[in-house]
Amino acid sequence: MSDFYIKANRVFSPWRKYAWIFTLTVAIGGLWFPILGLLVIPVMVGLTTVAFVRGRFWCGNICPHGSLFDSLIYPFTGNRKIPKFFKSKTFGILFFTFFGVNLVRKFVKVSALWGTYMFWERLGFIFVASYLMVTVVGGVVSLLISARTWCNFCPMGTLQKISYKLGKITGLNKNTDVKITAASTDMCHTCGKCSRVCPMQLTPYLEFDENNQFSSENCIRCSTCVVNCPANILSLGNLKEAQDIMESTPITGYEHKKVFPATIQNIRSINDTTNEYVFKFEDDDIKYTSGQFILVKIQDIPEMYRAYSISGFDSENKTVTIDVKKAPNGYGTGIIFDTFKEGDKVTLQGPMGHELIVDKEAKEVVMVAGGIGITPFRAIVKDLVENESNIEKFTLVYGANYENEFMFDDEFKSFAEKSDKFDYVKVAAFDDNFKGPRGFVTDVLKEMNLNENKIYMCGPPPMTKAAEKMLLSMDVPTTDIAYESA
Ligand SMILES: Cc1cc2nc3c(=O)[nH]c(=O)nc-3n(C[C@H](O)[C@H](O)[C@H](O)COP(=O)(O)OP(=O)(O)OC[C@H]3O[C@@H](n4cnc5c(N)ncnc54)[C@H](O)[C@@H]3O)c2cc1C
Ligand code: SF4
Ligand code: SF4
Repeated sequence: MSDFYIKANRVFSPWRKYAWIFTLTVAIGGLWFPILGLLVIPVMVGLTTVAFVRGRFWCGNICPHGSLFDSLIYPFTGNRKIPKFFKSKTFGILFFTFFGVNLVRKFVKVSALWGTYMFWERLGFIFVASYLMVTVVGGVVSLLISARTWCNFCPMGTLQKISYKLGKITGLNKNTDVKITAASTDMCHTCGKCSRVCPMQLTPYLEFDENNQFSSENCIRCSTCVVNCPANILSLGNLKEAQDIMESTPITGYEHKKVFPATIQNIRSINDTTNEYVFKFEDDDIKYTSGQFILVKIQDIPEMYRAYSISGFDSENKTVTIDVKKAPNGYGTGIIFDTFKEGDKVTLQGPMGHELIVDKEAKEVVMVAGGIGITPFRAIVKDLVENESNIEKFTLVYGANYENEFMFDDEFKSFAEKSDKFDYVKVAAFDDNFKGPRGFVTDVLKEMNLNENKIYMCGPPPMTKAAEKMLLSMDVPTTDIAYESA
């Protein structure tokens, strides 16, 4: 089975990227110049103060050791599951007590030198030794287990939790405390990616409170989950911001979402890497609009689903069809391809999503697809061909690298034969033998007059981003561009 935890984009401010220089300066430079250790005093004051108002924000954004783990060690870490023992409260408290008692013992010893330069050197060396110990022990567990293993039992982390608790008890951090916030839990895909990329290996998606906030004291507010959430619903905000976002986020397209059981009726191979799955359901009340997607449960503990665009929906026979491309080392697709069999019971959630619901009042519509992003357009084009609308012309621009990668080609050709409103344009990037246009979808788009078009795109993020950039440069209003990244 593929790894659960994945290495993913992290948010690096210049400080977060290079603060490890401070760590090495104190931990190693301090062996020659012990006075450097005194720099740790403002660090301790800083982290305790920041924790009072913002929880463990320091750990995720300012801590020089955190920078060492994230910036230097992260590329080489084994990225394994952090043992429960290291995450336990008991171990954290015991380690904090041991560390604290040891530190006080050393302070008392050095205090005999009070009033001399030697006092400051010895005091500095106490901090240098601690910094070096954290660098070595933290570095080793970071490398062997996961980058932020140390942070689960770091005494400074425990100190921050105590300070944060005081802030909460006194109510003084009510407005300053920022937490991971979901714009709407209805829009969550329950995909678990926020957990899979979380350096502290937490599970925000399973623990949002009534204000859609994640209140774990171990959250280091690093925003890794924010930048990796495929539903783009996460942010870091205080309570007031959370309540405002909750109120102002429309849930259009998600209001009929429900969890329902289904049976795998049919599995068909489309090509070497893609399978089609047809699910049969019994529920009479599944409301679907073409362009929406569905969630397929892949495991119970922790609960996780994967999102797939609905490529076919038959309300009479009560079936929903999806096409799944096997991701290299993919966790979810590994489970789907290896364990899903015809006749198996599965749990689905949806239908949901609004980005690709076509505006049927538009004059013209352009659909842009890349790779597996073609799947929702099977259902959308079928709907536009078979049902009345005000749309006068709709075009599908479908990009692939080579001609043999175009999926459902016959299906789209037959739609083009059935409806003279529909134009089907294929573009291949690298195929010398391809008879149609060579290049990327952007090369086709830039030759089109798009003034009266609504544009719907689905494909890999580099494609949707490049196409959006080009459309904006062609003065297409943002309100006329919608996309989903597959
Ligand atoms: C709205 C929506 C609709 C979608 N529709 C479709 C669809 O119709 N068809 C379809 O096939 N997909 C679709 N997707 C994508 C789908 O939801 C899954 O993301 C996809 O199937 C991959 O899931 P996975 O768990 O197998 O991959 P993951 O395990 O999440 O891996 C994703 C990628 O991360 C990388 N990775 C894996 N492990 C590691 C690691 N240890 N370190 C670093 N990188 C790693 C791999 O390159 C892998 O390809 C859609 C997504 C969304 C949001
Ligand atoms: S990453 Fe997935 S599970 Fe987590 S909040 Fe985003 S959509 Fe939900
Ligand atoms: S929940 Fe998000 S912000 Fe908190 S530690 Fe995990 S990835 Fe960072």
